[in-house]
Amino acid sequence: MLIHSAAYNTNLAAFGIDKPFALDRGAQVLKALQERDGHRPAVLSPDPISAAHALMVHSNEYLDSLKNADTWIKILELKDEEYRPELATRELPELLDDILLKCGGTLLACELALKFDMAANLGGGYHHAFPGEGRGYCVLHDIAIAIRSIKRRRMISSAMIVDVDFHQGDGSAVIFKNDPSVFTFSIHSKEGWPEEKQQSDLDVEVSEAESHLYLEKLAEGLEEALDQFEPDFVLYVAGSDPYEKDVLPGTRFMNLSLDTLRKRDQLVIDYFAEEGVPLAMVFAGGYGPDVWEVHYNAVRHLLDRSGELVT
Ligand SMILES: [Zn+2]
Repeated sequence: MLIHSAAYNTNLAAFGIDKPFALDRGAQVLKALQERDGHRPAVLSPDPISAAHALMVHSNEYLDSLKNADTWIKILELKDEEYRPELATRELPELLDDILLKCGGTLLACELALKFDMAANLGGGYHHAFPGEGRGYCVLHDIAIAIRSIKRRRMISSAMIVDVDFHQGDGSAVIFKNDPSVFTFSIHSKEGWPEEKQQSDLDVEVSEAESHLYLEKLAEGLEEALDQFEPDFVLYVAGSDPYEKDVLPGTRFMNLSLDTLRKRDQLVIDYFAEEGVPLAMVFAGGYGPDVWEVHYNAVRHLLDRSGELVT
């Protein structure tokens, strides 16, 4: 099952923002499924989460601070040339509606994965947000909100976050540090931001010189994670920013090919399918016009594996 809304492709120009956040990735994936595979997937549109959901992870004080444009400038790291308020027709704090909707997409993906074994939110994956501070383009931690929500409703009792984004899932590590029911596994660039890494339950750092060993390290990491923890449910944070065509300067330390990333996503999806563990996938990082191809391969494989791909 796929979750997406036309509203995911936010018109950043209306906010005076010029930054390569590839917000059209979901739309590009759906277009390619139709054009390349002749497949029109069932796509569900999410509802935005409520403030009560956001409070399951974030402080009231932080949520209040999102009423100030300055908070957004800081979280989105908008440099002078990337933010031109004089060209904007909308105020930055109005972006919150956009984030709440995408958080709703992750929550719906989790609910559907529990029913149908696999689901994907064609967006979301804000793994850097801390409880009291948005960081690294991440405003609300949609993954943690969704996990807490389904846990409180007793739909699961334990979860594992498998995070293969270029950057460490540091927000997830902080949020679930003292929660033994959620295991955080992150495989990420050693040299990449954040310089000061947090401690996940399992971290696998890949240096630039070790990039060719990526798939081996991922496979070993998965084995080790599953040796340590048996989850009811997996949230797969499938960032496309380790891709060689990602344009964010900070991701230059890892230049994985499209084929390696296709194998990465198949490895994770197949691993949990074979273990019989339901899996919800989110997009997380990915910058520039080409990264959607990574997600296309992952979504296509997820649909194929769940028997939904009709070509
Ligand atoms: Zn990233």
